[in-house]
Amino acid sequence: MAPEDPAGPERGGGWRKALVAVGAGLLLLLKLGSKAKLVLVAGAKFFPLLLKTGGTMLLSIGLYALAWGWKFAAGFVLLLLVHECGHLLAARRVGLKVGLPVFIPFMGAFIALKEAPRNAWIEAQVGIGGPLLGSLGALACDGLYWATGNPLYRALAFSGLFLNLFNLAPIGMLDGGRIVTALSPWLWIVGLVVMGYLLITHFNILVFLILLLSLPRIWFLFRPKTEEELRYFEVAPWQRAVMGALYFGLIALLVAGMQATHIRPPARTPVPATQVRVIPQPDRPASSNPNLPVMRGDGDPA
Ligand SMILES: [Zn+2]
Repeated sequence: MAPEDPAGPERGGGWRKALVAVGAGLLLLLKLGSKAKLVLVAGAKFFPLLLKTGGTMLLSIGLYALAWGWKFAAGFVLLLLVHECGHLLAARRVGLKVGLPVFIPFMGAFIALKEAPRNAWIEAQVGIGGPLLGSLGALACDGLYWATGNPLYRALAFSGLFLNLFNLAPIGMLDGGRIVTALSPWLWIVGLVVMGYLLITHFNILVFLILLLSLPRIWFLFRPKTEEELRYFEVAPWQRAVMGALYFGLIALLVAGMQATHIRPPARTPVPATQVRVIPQPDRPASSNPNLPVMRGDGDPA
């Protein structure tokens, strides 16, 4: 899926730089792995995944790089990978067979379920795994921003938070659509309204596809159901409570995180007063602070 563009377009330099970026990413993973046992175990587990997934990942980085510059592209694709690994871990935890992540340039990434979830509770757990780990990855990017002062990390944090929030929309095959099967499938209607509004105000082919592919599930709400289908949606009260707290808690966290990491667009053209958003930050006044993250128009961090 296409996130907001915080860095502006950048031309050229794509493939060679993208290769370097992937290499650097892998090196970083290995370096981290040598430092923490937990990460080492995860690294060993996911190294084959990185190799198999590498092809589509590389293609994605190359194409994102043409639009936003290779550093941002590499970071963004790594954030997508972290999100997908969250699904993978959740699926393994509940004993569900899944494929390796596959990247689709400008649409995101997905993992294919090799077997259908047995009930809504399992479907919801696999669904929330991605946004949970993905949001942690985005927050880690903001941690890097605070540690290094490099605004690129803040742009990545903001984009990662947005990516995970978008995926929590309760519709169709988006993660949110899967999660709310354990809360109330009627929340799909909320997702339909939100996506319908998005489609009317900002037409986007991806949103259109999501809406179109969600229609069978919307129809399911209104048609007569078999006993087996009804059983699929039976969820214990504690499960509903846990999933509800995780789902709405994560949405609140992501919205707050996006407010905190929002980067003002480069002031190349005058922005109409109605579009100016000033987010007050207590320890960082909005005016004349040289440490404020401001992206230059060419996509390279200032
Ligand atoms: Zn996901």
